[in-house]
Amino acid sequence: MSSSPGKEFLLLILSSPSGAGKTTLFNRLRGEFPLLRFSVSHTTRKPRPTEVDGREYHFVDREAFQSMVKEGAFAEHAEVHGNLYGTTIREIELARSADADGVLFDIDYQGARQLKATFPEAIGIFVIPPSLAELERRLRGRGTEDEATTRRRLAAAKAEIAHYGFFDYVLVNDDIDKAYGKLRGILLAERCRRPRWAKRCEELLLEARAETTSPQTAPKETP
Ligand code: ADP
Ligand code: 5GP
Repeated sequence: MSSSPGKEFLLLILSSPSGAGKTTLFNRLRGEFPLLRFSVSHTTRKPRPTEVDGREYHFVDREAFQSMVKEGAFAEHAEVHGNLYGTTIREIELARSADADGVLFDIDYQGARQLKATFPEAIGIFVIPPSLAELERRLRGRGTEDEATTRRRLAAAKAEIAHYGFFDYVLVNDDIDKAYGKLRGILLAERCRRPRWAKRCEELLLEARAETTSPQTAPKETP
């Protein structure tokens, strides 16, 4: 796998404690920027009633996941809340070959660290809730987890937040419109980073040099 997909192509990682709002934020971003492609991970977690295999995740059993690890299929993988999750190299290559201008990763801090090691230009955003009580309300309100899983995820949240220092940005998801506004702002600012525009600037410079070296047209004589 190439270590750099090119400066034009944006790799955007969103991580957070479970229930902080990554999926909600990503869905809005994809609605507004359809050329951003969502990276569909593999997981050994059981699908939720609304989830479709191949859309939210590729659902596989542990055995299949472990053989993919052995085959070197993953760009990153980790155990999160007792299940295995991973991003395949193929998923990133598919995004690069598709008509996409960037790829979105909803992965945990362990995966973010691994991806950053391979793609240092990837942008890491850590989403936090306004409070732990609000995180619990959201997780319970979503109603996708049983009591034991909810407790496990809430307990893990504290350890996950300890890894905030690893990310480029921290986004407090208090009011969803405000949080989305900030996420959108990060995306637009990242798209303006100098290395992405070096080629365009050099082209303009060439054009400017060509203009100054071309013979001047003689000024028209006045009658
Ligand atoms: P994650 O993907 O990080 O686990 P979700 O996007 O599924 O989190 O959000 C968890 C729950 O919280 C969902 O029911 C979602 O509708 C709700 N939610 C997300 N953002 C906010 C917000 N800013 N205010 C209130 N509820 C929110
Ligand atoms: P969920 O089960 O709620 O969909 O996801 C649980 C956690 O696993 C979230 O923190 C999510 O970001 C993380 N996750 C999802 N896919 C991947 C992946 O491919 N790699 C890693 N490292 N984490 C993932």
